[in-house]
Amino acid sequence: MRYLFGPGPTQVEPGVYQAMTQTLVGHLDPYFFEVVEDVRKGLREVYGTKNDFTLAISGTGSAGMETAVSNFVEAGSKFAVFVAGYFAERICDMGKRHGANVVRAEKGWGETFSDDEARDFIRRERPSLVAFVHAETSTGALQRPNAICEAAHEVGALAITDAVTSLGGIPVQIDDAGVDIAYSCTQKGLSCPPGLSPITLSPRALERLDARGRVNDVWYLDLGLLREYYERSHRYHHTAPITAFYALQEALRLIHAEGVENRWKRHQEAHRELVRGIEAMGLEMYVPEGQRIPTLNTVRVPAGVDDAKVRSRLLNECGIEISGGFGPLAGKIFRIGVMGPLATKERVAFFLDAFKKILQA
Ligand SMILES: *Cc1c(COP(=O)(O)O)cnc(C)c1O
Repeated sequence: MRYLFGPGPTQVEPGVYQAMTQTLVGHLDPYFFEVVEDVRKGLREVYGTKNDFTLAISGTGSAGMETAVSNFVEAGSKFAVFVAGYFAERICDMGKRHGANVVRAEKGWGETFSDDEARDFIRRERPSLVAFVHAETSTGALQRPNAICEAAHEVGALAITDAVTSLGGIPVQIDDAGVDIAYSCTQKGLSCPPGLSPITLSPRALERLDARGRVNDVWYLDLGLLREYYERSHRYHHTAPITAFYALQEALRLIHAEGVENRWKRHQEAHRELVRGIEAMGLEMYVPEGQRIPTLNTVRVPAGVDDAKVRSRLLNECGIEISGGFGPLAGKIFRIGVMGPLATKERVAFFLDAFKKILQA
């Protein structure tokens, strides 16, 4: 038995495993496209969007990231990225590989950008595309999206948000925030195994896509071709991972049955419970209150404690997986995910008991 209290993959609902045992149908079967439509509907609900163009890309969160970047950067175009952690670095790397002129707003790992900082940077640089990470999994910090998106629109740019860790566990509210392109994954806030990357495009992003005077240099992630397969002629593009769609369909059905607002509330309460327990143990959270991702908690490793040893004992003796820091935060933080079926008072108490026992030993 494993309890997945890390940043992902996270604990899978038993009903989702069950759904994955359904008989395979073909990737061009009308029944498969019914499943696809159901998934698209469920994704609009968790994304908080009316965007018609909402799909699940075959691949993990990084495939969604590369879909967003490769379809919307043009060679030599200015791509502004807010960087305060590892995943924003990955976006920059992809931007460069696709020929963009990447300009960075930079802060230390774990910090966030204020509304003024966001506006100043975008007004100064006047990019055609902006990207930021909503929930930076490498640090535990949550970036407010609204000012970034507003400023992007002011200069005629599109705003990309990485919602890989946030989707399903906390509100992402694509339409309210004014996000144009968002991508995520199945194995974090949605409580599924890895394999698909939900993506959504605003009407404004769709217009830009239709107006581009080139094809995507990545054939597999070309949204024009994927649209033809999933939405229009249903012409073969690639063999979609049918079983992963069954899993996502069931996960979204469970979220809808619980009520998406109830789910967010449950995650928020589990987060508060965890922080209370962590602080009662005399430990410190890494990110200041008010800027934390409720579903991915980063805790400072106390002086004199070997974090790798704690993590391996938790895994071997208690079946609990948590994660450590990396890059500038290696050895400095624990990363503790409280998501899906583990986001309950009982499971959090179970985790805290084990964590305390191992830390004291
Ligand atoms: C996990 C993660 C990714 C990458 O997703 P994979 O599924 O590992 O490819 C991208 N961005 C963020 C913020 C993540 O947490």
